[in-house]
Amino acid sequence: MIAYLNGNYLPRDKAVISAEDRGFNFADGLYEVIRSYSGRLFKLDAHMKRLRRSIDELRIPFDDIGKVKEIAERLLKENDLSSDDATVYIQITRGHAPRKHGFPPKDVPPTIFAYASAFKPHEQELNEGIKIILKPDIRWTRCDIKSVSLLPNILAFQEAKEKGAVEAVFMRDGAVTEGSHTSVFAVFDNKVFTAPKSHYILPGITRDVVLDLCRKRNIPFEEFPILESRMKKAEEFFITSTITEITPVVQIDEWMVGNGKPGPVTRELQGSVKELIEDFLR
Ligand code: PMP
Repeated sequence: MIAYLNGNYLPRDKAVISAEDRGFNFADGLYEVIRSYSGRLFKLDAHMKRLRRSIDELRIPFDDIGKVKEIAERLLKENDLSSDDATVYIQITRGHAPRKHGFPPKDVPPTIFAYASAFKPHEQELNEGIKIILKPDIRWTRCDIKSVSLLPNILAFQEAKEKGAVEAVFMRDGAVTEGSHTSVFAVFDNKVFTAPKSHYILPGITRDVVLDLCRKRNIPFEEFPILESRMKKAEEFFITSTITEITPVVQIDEWMVGNGKPGPVTRELQGSVKELIEDFLR
């Protein structure tokens, strides 16, 4: 596999960074994950806009967003992924310098690493739904930045895996924020709910896709917190991400959602996303 590191395209196992990289020492960096269908990058502009925002919020000196687009496209070609489905991962850190908390001198360039890999959706999870667990949201209060600092997400996700679940969903102040790597939706009385955008959640690109589809198909929705006190009354739950797409949730901890099967609103939205991607590829 050919990866990209600081201006070079090279075999991924040859892509090595300094032990003094600030990404390694401080998790001082950010990332993006983009999906491609038949070699075409889906919602590229939205991903680039979110990347730009993360870079600005972390004050990393990197201006050339156009370059990232070019790297992502070239990686698909270099790895023969022009007709398959794939994901592109991009990570930017504040470069390498002796370990000091303050920013390094201005002439230290950021580290830019990226790779593309073939991707197949998890059909069984998409069709049958998954179990999730609930965990207190112990993360920092700038979850809107796509930082590589993901330790609470990793610990929660690992616990989910060990309990036979597929995702851990965070609760803060009596409401759902989001999953360890997904946005979370619930349906009450045929109306779709998801947490409003704030510093407590990542502004998911798939989240926006789902809300746009609700708008287009006249499915009622509200960006309003999913309250812990009402959760068991939800008819449906689902999680979304670039990787997860729209995955139904049929079990939360030890209780079943609805009748334990993916519900009609989730199914309609899954169908609409499929159509959207077919249109995108036309
Ligand atoms: N929340 C978190 C914490 C995530 O890591 C992700 C995946 N990047 C999402 C939500 C979903 O975002 P997207 O739809 O842009 O993949």
